[in-house]
Amino acid sequence: MSRLISAPGLRSLLAAAVTVATAALVAITLSPGLTSATSTSQGNTQTTKAQADDENTTERVENVVFAIHGGAGTIRREDLTPELEQEYRDALTTAVRAGHREIQRGKDSTAAVEAAINTMEDSPLFNSGKGAVFNTDAENALDASIMDGETLDTGAVTGTKHIKNPISLALEIMENSRHVLLAGEGAELFAQHRGIELVTQDYFFTERRWESLMSAKDGESDFEFGETNTVGAVGVDRDGDLAAGTSTGGLTNKPVGRIGDSPIVGAGTYADNDTMAASATGTGELFIRQAVTHDISAQMEYLDRPVAEAAGVAIDKTEEIGGEDTGGVIALDHDQNLAFVFNTSGMYRGYVTEDGEIVVKIFGDE
Ligand code: ASP
Repeated sequence: MSRLISAPGLRSLLAAAVTVATAALVAITLSPGLTSATSTSQGNTQTTKAQADDENTTERVENVVFAIHGGAGTIRREDLTPELEQEYRDALTTAVRAGHREIQRGKDSTAAVEAAINTMEDSPLFNSGKGAVFNTDAENALDASIMDGETLDTGAVTGTKHIKNPISLALEIMENSRHVLLAGEGAELFAQHRGIELVTQDYFFTERRWESLMSAKDGESDFEFGETNTVGAVGVDRDGDLAAGTSTGGLTNKPVGRIGDSPIVGAGTYADNDTMAASATGTGELFIRQAVTHDISAQMEYLDRPVAEAAGVAIDKTEEIGGEDTGGVIALDHDQNLAFVFNTSGMYRGYVTEDGEIVVKIFGDE
C-alpha cells in the first residue's frame, strides 16, 4: 500500500524541499542551448514491421546512424490531442537531429547520445529532466546512464534531485572519474565540483506529472509502469563506435530510494562494438532481473542471433516473469541494423539513416 499524503501536504513538502535545495545549492550553467524542431518525415521504405504471435511489435531498419526512444507504454490515439501528438513528433525530431548533428560534425557517439537526450531532458514532454515524474514523497529523483561501446567505459547516476541533465553527469562520471555509478548526494557533490548545472526541485514541477501522482494516490495504487516517456538513444559515429544512453524520472509514485533499470548497466543501457548498443524502457524491476540489454548483446555474441531476434527474445523474457506490457527496447548493431521491439501499444521513437532521412513514430500500428 502506498503512503498517502494529502495534496496540500504534498505541496508543502515540495515547497520545503525547494527551500532547502535553494539554500544548499548554487546553480551553475553548463549545457549549451539546443534548437527546436521544424518538421517530421515518415514512411521510410527500409522499415519492415512484423506483428509477431507474441504480440511484440518489431521494426527493423537498415543503414541507421542514430536512433532514440521517448518511452514505451499504453499510448492510445484517443489520449493524445492532435496538437500534443504533433508536439511529441517535433520533440522526437529535434532529438534525432541533435544526435545526428554531433555525428556529422565528427563527434563521438557518446556526445551524440548526450546531445539527443539533453533535448528530451529539457522538454516537459518526457519523463526525464524537466518532465520527470514524482515519487511517493512528491519529489523528483532522477536516474541516467551512458556507455561507450569501444571501451566499455560507463557512467551512471541514480537518485539525483538537483541535476538538470542527468545524462551529462553520467557522461562526466564516465570521462572524469574512476567510478561507474554515483548515487544521490555524492553524485551531486561530484557534479558541483565538475561544473555540472544544478537546479532546485521546483524546476522539475509540471502540472501533468503532479496530476498523475494525485491519481496514483487517489487510487491508492502501488507504483506501476504505465506512465511512459523515459528517454534513450543509440548511435554509431564515423569511427564505427557505438554508444547508448538512458535517462528517466522512474515510475510515478515510486517509493523513496527505488531504483529502476535505467542507471543499471546491462539492464537499461548497454553498448559493445562487437555486438550492439541498446536502451530499454519499461518496468525496471523486470528489466534488471533479466539484464535485458546485456542479454541482447550476449545472444548476439554467443548464439550469433541478429539484433532484432535477440531483442525480441529479451523482451519475451520480461513477459515470462512480468506478464504483458512490460516495455520495449531500441538496439543498433555494429552493421547499422536498428531494431525497435516493444510489447506495449506504443513507443515514442525515431531514427535517422545514413542518407539523412529522419523518421519518427509513436503508435504500434504505424
Ligand atoms: N524503466 C524505467 C524505470 O523502471 C521506467 C520507464 O522506462 O518508463 O525506472
